[in-house]
Amino acid sequence: MSDSSHPESVVDLIEDLRRLPGVGRKTATRYAYWLVSQDQEYLTSLGKKIHRIKQAVKICRICGNKTEYEICHICQNTDRRTGQLCIVEQAEDILQFEKIGVYRGTYHVLGGVVDPLKNITLDELYTETLSERIEGEHIKEVILALNPTMQGDATNLALKEYFQDTELIITKLGRGISIGSTLEYLDSATLKEALESRR
Ligand SMILES: [Zn+2]
Repeated sequence: MSDSSHPESVVDLIEDLRRLPGVGRKTATRYAYWLVSQDQEYLTSLGKKIHRIKQAVKICRICGNKTEYEICHICQNTDRRTGQLCIVEQAEDILQFEKIGVYRGTYHVLGGVVDPLKNITLDELYTETLSERIEGEHIKEVILALNPTMQGDATNLALKEYFQDTELIITKLGRGISIGSTLEYLDSATLKEALESRR
């Protein structure tokens, strides 16, 4: 079935849906027709939520996590000042750690990775608050939880250099994380083991 056989508004919607991660033409078409079959109330509500999402979700000014407030719920929670700081690539990675519920320290979201091929250095990532956090939160251990990719390795190296004159213990996630995989797709048991076997 070619696109020309779909109504024009459906074609438009399919094109937009195809931009979603993991959605190809076939899935986008299925979603578009599924949406067409829903009642108007649901569609209006969904449209409104999509419309306001960008303005509603802010970046925590301490850790870079996504939040509806100035400071996220993890940074607000003083019980989480355990002296441990876990550095991740993106806010979504925090959800993975929180799901397993083992880690009780705080996080820092870089919002990207060092990429020598694209000339992206640590300076271009969210590091402005990092050194004051180390002092202010009495951090003793920094856990590097970057994805095991070439860019993740480059980021680890840059962070080790960044912390080289400190007394901090720098650890990295251990067992079970294979090269090229991303935290996003790890199951909880593997991530828990990786966290517990950090070195
Ligand atoms: Zn925060």
